[in-house]
Amino acid sequence: MKLESFWTDTAPRFAGASDAPLPRKASVVVVGGGFTGLAAARALAMAGTDVVLVEAGRVAGEASGRNGGQCNNGLAGDLGGLAAKIGMDAARALYHAFDEGVDRVEAIVRDEQIQCDFVRNGKLKLADKPEHGEKLGKTAEMLAREVEPNLRLIDKADLHREIGSDQFHGGIVFPRSASLHMGRFAAGLAEAAVRHGAVLHEQAGVTAITKIPGGRHRIETAKGPIEADAVLLATGASMKGPFGWMRRRIVPIGSFIVATQPLRPGQVARLMPGRRNCSTTRNVGNYFRLTADDRLIFGGRARFALSSPRSDLKSGKVLEAGMARIFPELADFPIDYTWGGIVDMTADRMPRAGERDGIFYSTGYSGHGTQMSVLMGERMARVIAGDAAANPWANLKWPAIPGHFGTPWFLPLVGAYYRYQDWRR
Ligand SMILES: Cc1cc2nc3c(=O)[nH]c(=O)nc-3n(C[C@H](O)[C@H](O)[C@H](O)COP(=O)(O)OP(=O)(O)OC[C@H]3O[C@@H](n4cnc5c(N)ncnc54)[C@H](O)[C@@H]3O)c2cc1C
Repeated sequence: MKLESFWTDTAPRFAGASDAPLPRKASVVVVGGGFTGLAAARALAMAGTDVVLVEAGRVAGEASGRNGGQCNNGLAGDLGGLAAKIGMDAARALYHAFDEGVDRVEAIVRDEQIQCDFVRNGKLKLADKPEHGEKLGKTAEMLAREVEPNLRLIDKADLHREIGSDQFHGGIVFPRSASLHMGRFAAGLAEAAVRHGAVLHEQAGVTAITKIPGGRHRIETAKGPIEADAVLLATGASMKGPFGWMRRRIVPIGSFIVATQPLRPGQVARLMPGRRNCSTTRNVGNYFRLTADDRLIFGGRARFALSSPRSDLKSGKVLEAGMARIFPELADFPIDYTWGGIVDMTADRMPRAGERDGIFYSTGYSGHGTQMSVLMGERMARVIAGDAAANPWANLKWPAIPGHFGTPWFLPLVGAYYRYQDWRR
């Protein structure tokens, strides 16, 4: 069993990073080579902007290359709650931004001819408890009326056509959602950015950013300094370096995944006949899907801890037990991969993007990041070019989380709170 991401282990390693010295200046420096940074670098280069991307480790080495492989539409939070705060029209627009995110991923895959198994297989939200089934019914009614006319509510009795498990109490299918091989998409996106003229540097972690005369910025990196007219921070939750302001606003939640060996003949038809992107309704729930070669990728929060090889192993055992509860015939089924990563969560599970002190940022996708990071990379390229209205999240305030000074000491408390909520309802 390998302690690394199935996606990065089974994709060609991106080989287009520059080994030349860092240029002295660029119009835009993008910090971070996950999907946000890569999509921004590609879009900026396509618009003719001189752009340099600096990545602390390897391209897509963090969340973008370590996630659950789901590219779902739909908000991470709930539409009704959001509408109560900002009005239904504005909430609808933010909901549809996720639809557009999935469309943008599909368009890039097509335009750049990236072989990454992109397929619109649909998301299946599964009710963990009878009460959750009732609540899903109400949610489905509102979503169908306001934003998602093609969704399908599925009763417990009909669920076996989608999933071979007796654990659930109904579900909703969101047909627009998609899945893809994240490692191959990341490598293809990075190669496309370079083809269009972006310069990508790996092992070039940023350690300081200072203002210099003329409203410009000096960025210190592990490969030396570079000056830029504009900087985009696309550092996700793994942000290392001088980003205390953002760190105090992000809850870095560990999420963990196991990938089985390919299922045996007959098991796919028995266990996952719908081949959907599944997720469950509990706060400490699970998400799972099949790969193109019929492995089950099974993830969840498992433990409220950050990712490390030891932590990933412990979490993998919790996940194996969860997988066996849902699919008893997979108890003791061989596991080929176990890994973990850090999710860029905000307190209200809505993304945040904007500009502060002349530095642009986009983050906080709260587990719904594959489509939103790609959309926001492209949108922030437009914002940097002067089109402020391109940022759909511009009007959301972003206060610091009380008591959060950068180190998430409170994660065990958050975990205990969520587990209590799951036990109660
Ligand atoms: C385990 C897990 C499962 C997930 N599952 C899903 C899913 O199924 N579907 C979904 O939609 N979303 C999922 N997500 C969320 C999604 O993967 C992320 O929201 C998205 O990839 C974020 O992209 P990003 O480019 O903003 O950040 P990242 O991919 O984290 O990239 C940020 C990059 O910035 C670099 N960096 C940090 N600091 C510096 C610095 N100082 N200098 C230079 N570079 C720096 C990092 O090394 C990193 O490569 C999951 C996340 C995790 C961790």
